[in-house]
Amino acid sequence: MLTAYKFRLYPDKKQQEIFSKYFGCNRVAWNKALELREEYYKDHKNDSSKKGLNYYDTAKLIKELKQKEEYKWLKEANSQSLQQTLMDLDKAFKAFFRRISKYPNYKKKSNRQSFRIPQHFNFTDNLLYLPKLGKGIKMEVHREFPREKVKQLTITKTPTDKYFVSLVVDDREEAPQKVQTTSDPKKTVGIDVGLKDFAVLSNGIKISNPKYLQRSEKLLKSRQRMLSRKQKGSKNRNKARIRVAKTHEKISNQKNDFIHKVSTAIIKQFDTVVIETLNIKGMKRNRNMAKAIGNASWGRFFQSLKYKADKQGKNVIEIGMFEKSSKTCHPCGYVNKGLTLSQREWICENCNAHLNRDLNASEDIRDFGLKQVGLDPIPSDRGEYKPVENPLTAELAKMNIKARSTSHDPEKQELYAMRKLKLSIGAGSPSIYWWEDVT
Ligand SMILES: [Zn+2]
Repeated sequence: MLTAYKFRLYPDKKQQEIFSKYFGCNRVAWNKALELREEYYKDHKNDSSKKGLNYYDTAKLIKELKQKEEYKWLKEANSQSLQQTLMDLDKAFKAFFRRISKYPNYKKKSNRQSFRIPQHFNFTDNLLYLPKLGKGIKMEVHREFPREKVKQLTITKTPTDKYFVSLVVDDREEAPQKVQTTSDPKKTVGIDVGLKDFAVLSNGIKISNPKYLQRSEKLLKSRQRMLSRKQKGSKNRNKARIRVAKTHEKISNQKNDFIHKVSTAIIKQFDTVVIETLNIKGMKRNRNMAKAIGNASWGRFFQSLKYKADKQGKNVIEIGMFEKSSKTCHPCGYVNKGLTLSQREWICENCNAHLNRDLNASEDIRDFGLKQVGLDPIPSDRGEYKPVENPLTAELAKMNIKARSTSHDPEKQELYAMRKLKLSIGAGSPSIYWWEDVT
């Protein structure tokens, strides 16, 4: 099984200089190879007999560049690291063609910098040794890891000048056997991610986007506005740029932390999680900024769910972008074609069920996933509810993440509001309760 680790690095002045060269070489290799691929595409796009360039074509290019006087300095970089960069670009293109990720971008000096080293590195207690770097680099090891089993190593530098090393460790042990997926609403859950709420689960739990993240995002916007007003090349502009980068970094840390906590709690509680494959192409087409940002964190959320599920022998089922998921009535299957995005609730014309848009979507996602593995869907419950303790909301509450119950019934939904819930159940933390079907 593969496990990822990330540690802060503290290179000295000289090591920073060498890193900076390596970053530069890998950035140029990436950009040059990308340029070559694009030119080739432009020249041959009407010729169906020609396929695009691959890794080997771009590797040849780098070899040629190294012979040229103006690119001689590329030789200073670790050549395996350059090869790795070209392989990463190749992978990025393959992922793009399979529509699972965005078109690869040119790398800029002001963004996050990185290079990878596939072998010939070494560790002592808190030092990292790299080829050509001489003495060890100080490393903050906050979590033990098997040093002899590290497979891959990536060095990064953030726009705020922090250095990190990311490691992939292969313990050569087999992944635990997967538990069986069942048509049990307590064991299998569908997740609908959205902009209004972070996620709505088919068991009626709604997880909101944390307030602190919204505050940070507001701050980012105002700082970006400030940056755009500063004169190009001025000292103040540079200061403003660093402020923007710091805020970006803060948001990304807060988001990762939030995603980590939510995915841990969900995988702990359920055996099987059903999610929708993100359609990045479709997202790009609608040019909705908020959606694009959401998309990035949903991608990370799904990755995190899959990673944790693999470690614990749980399942993640991905279903194709199921466009009608919010439009299909879960109880009867009727498709409400006229449903607009602003309608948060609707009544089914066919069976009269009162539906909460997001909850309905998450139930459809869950059942679509069950169907995909040959299991029966779970009927919608429309009975009486009583408040019971819910392990997921309890788990989330412990980590300071607010989760609320949601229902198809607007009256019940009103009841679920925390204040009222507290009144109806008396003492205890209201957030650890939800409503369960008792019929
Ligand atoms: Zn219906």
